[in-house]
Amino acid sequence: MDRPPVIRKTAQDLRLSPHWADFAGERGTFTWDGARRALQGLPGGGLNIGFEAVDRHAAGALREHVALRFVSRSGPALDVSYGDLARQTNRFANVLRSLGVGKGDHLFVLAGRMPELYVAVLGALKNGTVVTPLFSAFGPEPIATRLNLGGGQVLVTTDELYRRKVKPMRAQMPTLRHVLLVAEDGGVTQEPDTLDLGQLMAAASDVFSTVETRPDDPALLHFTSGTTGTPKGAVHVHGAAITHHATGRFALDLHGEDRYWCTADPGWVTGTSYGIIAPLLHGVTSLIDREEFDAERWYTLLEQEHISVWYTAPTAIRMLMKAGPELARQHHYPNLRFVASVGEPLNPEAVWWGKDVLGLPIHDNWWQTETGGIMIANTPAFDIKPGSMGRPLPGIEACIVEHLEGEGEPPRVRIIDLPNVEGELALKSGWPSMFRGYLNNEARYNKCFCDGLYLTGDLARVDADGYYWFIGRADDVIKSAGHLIGPFEVESVLLECPAVAEAGVIGKPDAMLGEVVKAFVSLKDGYKPSESLRMDISAHARKRLGAAVAPKEIAFLPVLPRTRSGKIMRRLLKARELGLPEGDTSTLEGGA
Ligand code: ATP
Ligand code: MG
Repeated sequence: MDRPPVIRKTAQDLRLSPHWADFAGERGTFTWDGARRALQGLPGGGLNIGFEAVDRHAAGALREHVALRFVSRSGPALDVSYGDLARQTNRFANVLRSLGVGKGDHLFVLAGRMPELYVAVLGALKNGTVVTPLFSAFGPEPIATRLNLGGGQVLVTTDELYRRKVKPMRAQMPTLRHVLLVAEDGGVTQEPDTLDLGQLMAAASDVFSTVETRPDDPALLHFTSGTTGTPKGAVHVHGAAITHHATGRFALDLHGEDRYWCTADPGWVTGTSYGIIAPLLHGVTSLIDREEFDAERWYTLLEQEHISVWYTAPTAIRMLMKAGPELARQHHYPNLRFVASVGEPLNPEAVWWGKDVLGLPIHDNWWQTETGGIMIANTPAFDIKPGSMGRPLPGIEACIVEHLEGEGEPPRVRIIDLPNVEGELALKSGWPSMFRGYLNNEARYNKCFCDGLYLTGDLARVDADGYYWFIGRADDVIKSAGHLIGPFEVESVLLECPAVAEAGVIGKPDAMLGEVVKAFVSLKDGYKPSESLRMDISAHARKRLGAAVAPKEIAFLPVLPRTRSGKIMRRLLKARELGLPEGDTSTLEGGA
């Protein structure tokens, strides 16, 4: 279907007056010092994420307001108010203190999206203890590797996960001093060498004074998704709360009355920064669904939980699209006013799908584990160019650079001033949530910076209106017969075919052309692979992209390999195609 290149916003598109209505004005007057004043701070100039997210509200008008609402198939919803959350996180902080765990020590959480995870993360932050939430679906190896890399002293998990995933490896975790277990059956855990968290919490005081942390003190250690290689541990500081608050305001447009749902798991940076911290900083009610993806369930939740702001990911949107529009149309979403997506490029088809079936376009935004918060975004007040990730937020200066001398160290780059020239996306250093190091890899960290710029490793271009367009990871770009081909462009065109649910495109070595484009596609429900379908898809791609860029080969797969954070793993498609070692697959969804 032919779609216009721009989705124009009008006053009718806005149910609430957006926080960011004057694009240039807000960017012109914004300062990070000013943004910090939106937070309370600790006496003496300190800043603590847990205090800002919970205690600040619990001491004020939001004491009885629901902070977190947990829903699951197995029982009634559980509402936790800001006041409850303050008391529970105080208890948890006291538990840590009683164990001698303090500022700068390191705690890991391995759990599904259960209340204890949220209490542990926020309570640990209040105690000055550095936190890493892990995906509960990780196997023993990835858990041990990450815990050892971070030198974790404390692990919070469930008795069931402990028995299956931690116990067999415990002897190989020399730094681990305390294992705090949540009994899945609600009883008391009896595992040797562990402590029962429920008992400890019951005995602890619910009064705690937040440990004095400074904006530059470490708060969180997040591992990257492992899309391009072995996951890296990125260190984040308490000052990140300033970015989380500012971006919750500008990119997610959070207002006090919102009912907000971030579908990401806290094992991925999005699920912590925007699934825990940013909504609490804004005092909104956050929905947490403890179940896995299910299209029917998700539509029901959007409707029945009166969600107003929804933050999800392209992979989820593609799965909803795969389930067909009829399901979506069986529900109504009168409360929904803003939908955003992050994690991968959002294909234009997906942006339009939102408009067609939810009545709202999907707003793509861009950031990385390393940036700690949203940097480039489409937001409620401004026109969307489907396929573009939007424009830099207030406080963020982005540019496109070219490398001057190959892979030098330190790298040397030059800013490209012309619009629409492809290069590496770079950001002027200095926003508060910028990562402060890759764990145990200073050389790699230093390589990310040059002349005051942070180099993102992503290729993009910026158009004359200042909208950024993602081309691909530097590693994924295909070089064919002298053309540089970004996989995203090809994948987006493949997704225009009614049968195609997902597409992943790689470069396959070719003696003549350098590389040829090979596409892997999975099909929507109701379609079956066939030679004629392959030819239809191929013809569509050739018509839209030209013969030089269209895939030379198209293969059908039932599903594409993706990370637990939902990103297509092109490096795995390539390794499998070429019969090469698969490398680190610790974050592969469905893997051990
Ligand atoms: P690794 O660094 O381990 O390979 P990763 O880069 O996927 O994994 P994350 O930090 O979770 O780990 O993801 C950030 C990356 O995701 C970005 O650098 C970018 O490549 C991609 N990304 C995120 N949002 C978008 C978006 N809106 N459009 C395009 N790409 C995006
Ligand atoms: Mg990365």
